[in-house]
Amino acid sequence: MDLSVLINAGPWLPVPPEGYGGIENVIATLVPELRAEGVHVVLASVGGATLEADEHVSLFPEGRFAHIQRPYNQVMGIAHAHMQMVLERARRGDVRLVHDHLEVVGAAVLGAAGPAVPPVLHTLHWDLRKHPEFYGGFNGNGRLFVNGVSASQLARAPEALRACSLGHAHLSTPLAVDADRRPAPAKQPYAVMVGRITRAKGTHIAAAACRRLGIPLVLAGPVNGIDTVQELAEVYADPSHPLHGAPDVRYFMEDVHPHVDGEAVRWIGTVAGAARDDLVAAARAALFPVQWAEPGGTAVIEAMACGTPVVGIGRGCLPELVDHGRTGLLADDDEGFARLLPRAEEIDPDECRKEAAARFTPRTMALRYLELYERALSRPRTVVEVPARPAPAAAQPAPPR
Ligand code: UDP
Repeated sequence: MDLSVLINAGPWLPVPPEGYGGIENVIATLVPELRAEGVHVVLASVGGATLEADEHVSLFPEGRFAHIQRPYNQVMGIAHAHMQMVLERARRGDVRLVHDHLEVVGAAVLGAAGPAVPPVLHTLHWDLRKHPEFYGGFNGNGRLFVNGVSASQLARAPEALRACSLGHAHLSTPLAVDADRRPAPAKQPYAVMVGRITRAKGTHIAAAACRRLGIPLVLAGPVNGIDTVQELAEVYADPSHPLHGAPDVRYFMEDVHPHVDGEAVRWIGTVAGAARDDLVAAARAALFPVQWAEPGGTAVIEAMACGTPVVGIGRGCLPELVDHGRTGLLADDDEGFARLLPRAEEIDPDECRKEAAARFTPRTMALRYLELYERALSRPRTVVEVPARPAPAAAQPAPPR
């Protein structure tokens, strides 16, 4: 295939990530499949990126994720410095398309570059309520297109952004490959939550409900890049620490930690690789009591691929991914979620694995992206008419990544 794509993973984490890393996991899953289809991939990431690609470019020797929740005026230079490097590479003339994954800054910089860079597909990984000022008046000028990671995410997008959308591509996981042919994992009596620990994911809801119901719960994932209670307590106690006021740090210490008793509810920090997969596969249920419109839900499809029924709240993409009553149980609210928890065993783990193998393999996702690339490249390069820019709406409180 005569296609050379620059994939911009951003400056936050290496590809693949060592543990947590939703966007970086998606890219690590996509790139090998694209290359198997003959696509030449230039990967823009950070120095620690070990994913095989035809070419690597980076500015930072390692990921800057630990800085992501610092005040804007302290961190804005990180994303912009990374983009300067991406622009330089994209301008060289040998890349036909840029596939960008860097929130707002990627789209803004590449869009402003106009014909100096190839056409762009910008994947929207986040909650689109987050940046109404930017997305509300978005105009890709016929060169920059976007795609969502679920239909529900795009349905919530401002009209101007939807006018530049080529559709959605669901996320995928390597665990889905032959998921239905692997031996069924032995189950143990605990529930699991794997993900960033942040209010939007509803960690406090799961922890409180499990503790009340006596269901053992294992929480895995970082709190603003931190992995131990001791380190968090130090940060929380030290007003001069740069992460002291970080929302996720406060959230954990104030709303989650009181439920973490080390027995019924345990927090084990970040898990990675086979340890993560085994932890999820042996659990009776994977919990997603999401408090936001979850845009893509990598961990949701990973759970299904491991044969672990999903119990969650049917917000955002959850109803698109999970078939209530067959591959999981979805409630309307927190109370409903707690009522469903003891019923996880009604779901057949094999149904979950079959569903993942049929819908969420890396190849399925890569073929979909190739379709989107084709569309981006075949659109006429004309200025698109978009609705007049509305007055900036007051930003709704939405969780940071
Ligand atoms: N993850 C992991 N180890 C952890 C916590 C999370 O490997 O301790 C991975 C998880 O398996 C998933 C990703 O990080 O692949 C989180 O992606 P998701 O889309 O669920 O969350 P988000 O991108 O919104 O943080």
